[in-house]
Amino acid sequence: MTPFPLGLHRPVEHDGPLPDAVDVAIIGGGVIGVLTALFLSRKGLKVAVLEKGRIAAEQSGRNWGWIRQTGRDMAELPIAMEANSLWTQLQGDVDEDLGLARLGVAYLGNTAKDVAEFEDWLSKAKPHGVDSRILSAGQTADLLPGATKRFAGSLHTPSDMKAEPWVAVPIFARAAVKAGAVIRENCAVRALDMVAGRVAGVVTEKGRIKADHVMVAGGAWSSLFLRPYGISLPQLSVQAQVLATEALPDLDLPAAGNSDLAFRRRADGGFTLAASGWHRLFIGPDAFRHLPKYLPQIKAHPFGAKYHPAAPKGFPDAWGTQRHWSAEETSPFEHMRVLDPKPTMALHQKTLAAFAALFPNLGTPRIKTVWSGMIDAMPDVVPVVDHAPLEGLSICTGMCGHGFGIGPAFGRIMADLITGGAVGHDLHRFRLSRFSDGSKLELGPGL
Ligand SMILES: Cc1cc2nc3c(=O)[nH]c(=O)nc-3n(C[C@H](O)[C@H](O)[C@H](O)COP(=O)(O)OP(=O)(O)OC[C@H]3O[C@@H](n4cnc5c(N)ncnc54)[C@H](O)[C@@H]3O)c2cc1C
Repeated sequence: MTPFPLGLHRPVEHDGPLPDAVDVAIIGGGVIGVLTALFLSRKGLKVAVLEKGRIAAEQSGRNWGWIRQTGRDMAELPIAMEANSLWTQLQGDVDEDLGLARLGVAYLGNTAKDVAEFEDWLSKAKPHGVDSRILSAGQTADLLPGATKRFAGSLHTPSDMKAEPWVAVPIFARAAVKAGAVIRENCAVRALDMVAGRVAGVVTEKGRIKADHVMVAGGAWSSLFLRPYGISLPQLSVQAQVLATEALPDLDLPAAGNSDLAFRRRADGGFTLAASGWHRLFIGPDAFRHLPKYLPQIKAHPFGAKYHPAAPKGFPDAWGTQRHWSAEETSPFEHMRVLDPKPTMALHQKTLAAFAALFPNLGTPRIKTVWSGMIDAMPDVVPVVDHAPLEGLSICTGMCGHGFGIGPAFGRIMADLITGGAVGHDLHRFRLSRFSDGSKLELGPGL
């Protein structure tokens, strides 16, 4: 089996001395951190991205690669639509191939009830101008040539796209460097540098960087990082796993999935497959701490996750993970350079068999590689995109399983939020204070 494309076996690409001072220091080199750096650099700001492992080695390189407006929360939809245009613009700006293609995305309905839910979503989404539509059972069969199952219908968005995650985000990182950003891999941020009650920079494992502003884009690590500053971010992460097949014939299929199986064709001709409904939550101290906030989600989807009593050693919410450390000592972020949960092979074999049974006309699919990732989630399944209650700090995290596609737009938005420009969207739904100001949490669509 080919090893997973990104991880610690990949040589460090971004290395060198640390700058003494920058305008903005960004914690985390996933899609959010990298794209924010790109947009800030284009505005002429001096930016440093600090990544404890490798660029996009966690969620941002491990996802399905769907760039989706389909099924989005209504507050996210206009942002996802902006992201859709930005992806095309960005492909025009860089001289490497992001693997971008307008495949379309289809949510496949098993039952009439599923289709009724799609119709309900569409009635709210249409006024935003999205090109999504409901396809009948027959039209869905036409969309999936050779499929052995007849679906009740589907929600199809022809303008949705895909890109290759472990290719695209490193390309954006190189574009950010070209635009003037400094990126450092193997460089964990241990702490915020606080001066007179305000954030004045970061303390990394390799030294201090003064910064007028710091942004936390630490994916599944953001809550652990923020806690020592009295900032409670009720974030948990769930495991999800993916398999890549060897190349198969091209049937011109969209990226599609139902509650059991998701598939989309990659640039190398293979398919990226996943058991879409399968998520595993490792129970740790944060899971207990934030349980009351997650009750509405658990009630709405009682079987939405498998539970495991303890996370592997070093995971953000493992029982033994340090919650307090000083800036002078090795932090949990250095103990776990890349969060790399072990996939369950039996589940992969089931996923492969389900795909082979759905498309026998593709021949016998063979596994090329497999991997797994931790999806960072919030109680209401929408992210936090906000200034933090600490002067000089902002947060963009908790992307809830859909941050890759929307990443360019949140990167653009954060660049404007940090510099005091017009963000162009209503960010009220994404405010951090919704978890503490007594508001009733409104559940967004699932992960
Ligand atoms: C299996 C799977 C499938 C998915 N499918 C899709 C999809 O099809 N479409 C879609 O839009 N989204 C999808 N997602 C979600 C998407 O990948 C994430 O929402 C997105 O990548 C999150 O980006 P991020 O930059 O917030 O976090 P991450 O990519 O997790 O990046 C955060 C980075 O911060 C670093 N970091 C953390 N703490 C520190 C510190 N103290 N110092 C330095 N560095 C630090 C980490 O090492 C990490 O690299 C999927 C996710 C998974 C796991």
